[in-house]
Amino acid sequence: MINVFQPSLGERELAAVAEVFAGNWLGKGPRTAGFERDFAEHIGVEAERVVTTNSCTEATFIAMDLAGVGEGDEVVLPTVSFVGAGNAVAAHGARPVFCDVDPTTLNATVDDIEAALTPRTKAVLLLHYGGYPGDVVDIAALCRDRGVLLIEDAAAAVASSVDGQACGTFGDIGVWSFDSQKIVVAGDGGALSARDPELVARAGKLAYFGLEQFSGYSQAKTTSTRWWDFDISSFSRRSIMNDVQSAIGAVQLRRLPEFLARRAEVVAHYDRELADVPGVLPPPALPRGHRGSQYLYWLRLDARIRDQVARDLYDRGVYTTFRYPALHRVAAYGWTTPLPRAEEAAERTLCLPLHQALSDDDVQTVVDALRDSVSRRSGGGA
Ligand SMILES: *Cc1c(COP(=O)(O)O)cnc(C)c1O
Repeated sequence: MINVFQPSLGERELAAVAEVFAGNWLGKGPRTAGFERDFAEHIGVEAERVVTTNSCTEATFIAMDLAGVGEGDEVVLPTVSFVGAGNAVAAHGARPVFCDVDPTTLNATVDDIEAALTPRTKAVLLLHYGGYPGDVVDIAALCRDRGVLLIEDAAAAVASSVDGQACGTFGDIGVWSFDSQKIVVAGDGGALSARDPELVARAGKLAYFGLEQFSGYSQAKTTSTRWWDFDISSFSRRSIMNDVQSAIGAVQLRRLPEFLARRAEVVAHYDRELADVPGVLPPPALPRGHRGSQYLYWLRLDARIRDQVARDLYDRGVYTTFRYPALHRVAAYGWTTPLPRAEEAAERTLCLPLHQALSDDDVQTVVDALRDSVSRRSGGGA
């Protein structure tokens, strides 16, 4: 089968893990600190503005804590969002307010966000769909004007930017993912960055029981206190990334340019081969100054054949998927208002395999299977 997502892990990652084993320190330590510095440099911020977590979902929960989101608050998010984002809002007792999306980019536009703001809006949780930056510049300005916090879910946007500024750094807080289906993988892991380094320091404590000090040993030489005593500032969980994950992540981050170059070739191959297939629309072109991450390659098809096309491709050894099913239709969130553009997109959109391990033959297999299926299912001949 040809996978939709697939990590590329090899000798260099293995060697990095072997070094961690040799050092006999697997927990959060020097390699995690190093990975945080590398990631901060990658997104163009000072080192004290990045802290890692065990997942992006956990980083989003922590972002809700930092934003002070709670009972009686509303958080606006595109209905095409990851389930962990909706859960982070609802678990804090706030109401997720789902907004519609542009059916071609699947990103919420600045108008979609603005229409959903109310006096109770505490924060906007903005997804960069497929790594496309979207209206982030205007949305950040809108949020500043209205005194609403902007949190960017940059899980799909690890290499995305507008005019050189990294996605995830336009708002107040950004979160990233290094889970095994992303581009930079660490075997689970996440990062949080905030404009205010104080918030990042608090995030670090929230990610480790709310402990006021990470290890007491460092103080043992200079004070008379017992190093096993502690104090806490919150009743928090344990959400840290460890040195095994960070060692892998650091290698992957160095390989990112190589991954992006191959992904760009795959995208160009799809664009070229699918341009003339009737009824198949590729992802829209990125506006000038915008850089994506080539995280998803999504097609818009006739809604009447989309599911059957997915099944035909599966029968020919090609996995496809749809990201992300509209959250406003998930009963548990208790939403009742239709969001027609997102609903249309949810019926028409199909994500093709996109990762750096695809060979040219793989890509051609996908293209051929897709052409055959669309032509057959549209009644367009043999
Ligand atoms: C994968 C993903 C997440 C969650 O990341 P985890 O590290 O698996 O928790 C959040 N948002 C988006 C857009 C994602 O694709």
